[in-house]
Amino acid sequence: MNKQEVVDMIDEYYMPVFARYNIVLSHGEGPYAYDQEGKKYLDFLAGIAVNLLGHAHPRLVSAIAEQAGKMIHCSNLYYTEVQARLVKRLAAVSGLDKVFIANSGAEANEGAIKLARKYGKKLNPDRVEIIAANHCFHGRTLATLAATGKYYNGYEPLPAGFRHVDYNDIEALKAATSEKTCAILLEPIQGEGGINMPDENYLKQVRQLCDETGALLIFDEIQTGMGRIGTMFAYQHYGVTPDIVTLAKGLGGGVPIGAFIASNKVAAAFSSGDHGSTFGGNPLASAAANAVLTEIEEAGLLANVKETGAYLLQSLATLKEKYPELITEVRGKGLIVGVQLTIQGRDIVNSCLEKGLIINCTAGDVLRFVPPLIIKPVHVDEMVAVLDQVLSKI
Ligand SMILES: *Cc1c(COP(=O)(O)O)cnc(C)c1O
Repeated sequence: MNKQEVVDMIDEYYMPVFARYNIVLSHGEGPYAYDQEGKKYLDFLAGIAVNLLGHAHPRLVSAIAEQAGKMIHCSNLYYTEVQARLVKRLAAVSGLDKVFIANSGAEANEGAIKLARKYGKKLNPDRVEIIAANHCFHGRTLATLAATGKYYNGYEPLPAGFRHVDYNDIEALKAATSEKTCAILLEPIQGEGGINMPDENYLKQVRQLCDETGALLIFDEIQTGMGRIGTMFAYQHYGVTPDIVTLAKGLGGGVPIGAFIASNKVAAAFSSGDHGSTFGGNPLASAAANAVLTEIEEAGLLANVKETGAYLLQSLATLKEKYPELITEVRGKGLIVGVQLTIQGRDIVNSCLEKGLIINCTAGDVLRFVPPLIIKPVHVDEMVAVLDQVLSKI
């Protein structure tokens, strides 16, 4: 099929929910992706923070192929060694105790919300409220849409019990918290909302509020987890441990998998039959996640994220100096960085695509950079050169 045939077929047969860019990708290698005609793109989006090891990473490819040759799926009615290894490792890297494996971010958050409600209601039947932040993103299922607080026009009625306050406003959070609050749900760094950073001490103050009120602290690390900011979880950098953390995106390096991890005390609110998943943690997905974890450790990717991330931030800051009328702020940590524009970003993203660079724009006017964790300063230089050219033409 040629490019236009692919585009036309998807437009005809796929539900019209995605505003897709007009390229047809076919394969990749490392931080590069290729379209059908062989055009090369430097991929600084990585499937939206998913392809942590880049494309076609040999360790991930062989782990998946080997597991597929043995067993792809068997159901959680049975035990598998590959899942055993994964849950032990996730508990160890998170500093928490018990893991549930799902298939996506929304499902991980949905499960975390269910667990928090179970736990809260054991203390007090009214303890059902979840407080989240304005400009958050937690997913597209009904409960996670309610948690997200937007995109729900037309889907009402939604699950009740969700409230929102401004991110970084500890006083508003205190005022909203009561004996009905079962959990506070936050992204340590807001991703879709525009790469919004926590103020100094904000997350610690939230932890303290939770300790004082008995509300659980849930961190949604679906975008920030798995080494993205240079520590395995963002909360480790900020020195705050949640009661529940959720993961997905990069966990399987591209294979669909999500997880929520809780302390023993909280996880004990669940008993047999309280939650489930047909696919969750199946051997194929577990093998992929194990391979990603092994590569992060053995290739020293956390150190690379710190180093290359600092270089990325500094390089983009140089562009901000050069184009003060277009860029007002560069913010982020490690390999999650946002460039705040004074204009909408979609045309810039399209021009970058024409020049062989994949980035995206979130919240309308923030360019988002969430490249694979394997990139080096040379890739940053390549990206910045293209972006510089594009900005110079505006
Ligand atoms: C992407 C994302 C989700 C949703 O994940 P899906 O796999 O698309 O369901 C939830 N929370 C955060 C912070 C995300 O970045």
